[in-house]
Amino acid sequence: MNYTVFKNCRFSFETPDKDGIHTGRSIVVSGKKIVAIGPAEAIAAEYENGPDTEIVDCGDKIVMPGLMDGHNHLCNTHMNMTRAFCIDYSNIAKHMMITIHNPYGWLTEESIYDISMASILNDVKHGATTIENSTILPDTAFRAMDDSGVRGILAPQMATSFRLANEPLNWKQYLEQARRCIKDYHRPDERMSVAVHIHDLWDCTERLMTEAYQIAEDYDVKYVLHFWEFADAVRRGDALWPEGAFEHYMNLGIITDRSVLFHGSMLKADEIERLAKTGASVIHNPDINGTNCGNCAYIPKMLEAGVNVGLGCDYGSLDVMTSMKLMLMIHNIMPRPLKGLAYHEPFKAATLGTARAYGLEEQTGSLEVGKRADIITIDLKKAPHMLPMCTALLDVQPELLYFLFTRNCAGTTTSETMIDGRFIRRNGAFTEIDEERFVAKAAEWCEKGMKDLTAAFREKREYARIIHPDFTKDEDIPEDTLL
Ligand SMILES: [Zn+2]
Repeated sequence: MNYTVFKNCRFSFETPDKDGIHTGRSIVVSGKKIVAIGPAEAIAAEYENGPDTEIVDCGDKIVMPGLMDGHNHLCNTHMNMTRAFCIDYSNIAKHMMITIHNPYGWLTEESIYDISMASILNDVKHGATTIENSTILPDTAFRAMDDSGVRGILAPQMATSFRLANEPLNWKQYLEQARRCIKDYHRPDERMSVAVHIHDLWDCTERLMTEAYQIAEDYDVKYVLHFWEFADAVRRGDALWPEGAFEHYMNLGIITDRSVLFHGSMLKADEIERLAKTGASVIHNPDINGTNCGNCAYIPKMLEAGVNVGLGCDYGSLDVMTSMKLMLMIHNIMPRPLKGLAYHEPFKAATLGTARAYGLEEQTGSLEVGKRADIITIDLKKAPHMLPMCTALLDVQPELLYFLFTRNCAGTTTSETMIDGRFIRRNGAFTEIDEERFVAKAAEWCEKGMKDLTAAFREKREYARIIHPDFTKDEDIPEDTLL
């Protein structure tokens, strides 16, 4: 047997709960799995004598489960520039056309691959071992995710209200693409899950929503969607449906324990209570909420009500640790009756919470025997910002270690990153992927993208076209315009 031993961890964050942090323990990996965890001396006696044992000395390291970026769009990194043209959240459909759909339509297979790869490197460097990738262009996205070695949730995104120049699928073709992606790529045991993804409630026909949900049922995969992110969308949704938009969509049968909702920023306390009964999960994205729409999910209420909460970056920082820090801080500031979070909650959302959302909790999200070896380490010798974390706290208030870690972790890079038993990073560098090459390529695409999109904006050219107005009832859209 070949073993890799993460030896004598200064801190091991093993399970995201009050008693989850330990010191002086070792973690043993064989093949793709964690096979033993225990006191360093006992592990040494049993596992460290073989000639093929690889030792990672963790005497000065934090060792923890790989973090999970529960929501992102890996080919959207360049879209952080398009706010130069429009930043108008009072008209979300127009805003999306200029800042999201056009730059989506500008992409090519080559640029999607390079930008996605640079985004993955950024996410992985900051601790992610699993990434959810919502994308309209799934095949190239799959290739980048697969080549990088990351664990992925690929979500081929569907919408009916617009079509991109580079992928002009109608709604039936989108459904077919979703089926094909599940058949071709859904292999949770081989690092890739596929989820059925309708983009949002206001740019999809209800027929698309319900037929897409049926596909998720047929193949027993997750159903994901942006949900209650923008104030403008909720206001216009409420105007469309006499019973209220929330009530309407809850009755449509698409929000169940199969559903994963991105954001939930506009949900009110009573709606959260109702949502909790469905078993749906919410992925919180405080980074993009704080820098884009300015609405923040009522996470303390969601946790109190029993909603499973995961955490994502959504093409903001591409750094789950920054999202963890923001999650810790922001709910102390929000002017709501319930404030603050237990110190371990951001870490839980970034690990087991996200794993549960995507049905991956048997595989990843904690350091436990039998789970896949998705493990990261942080070298404390090179992390003065992690002071004053010290093992003496374990005897006094262990939970404070979560607080100290989460408050200071933003921007931290990993020393080791292991995914499915394979080192992607070792001693602070990528083992196989040429980081500088992909950063340089993505930077070139960003330069070109900004020039092209600026020219198109000035000449009133678009890389996408409207098929039907957003916030329109199915019966008001002629069937042939959708085909
Ligand atoms: Zn998103």
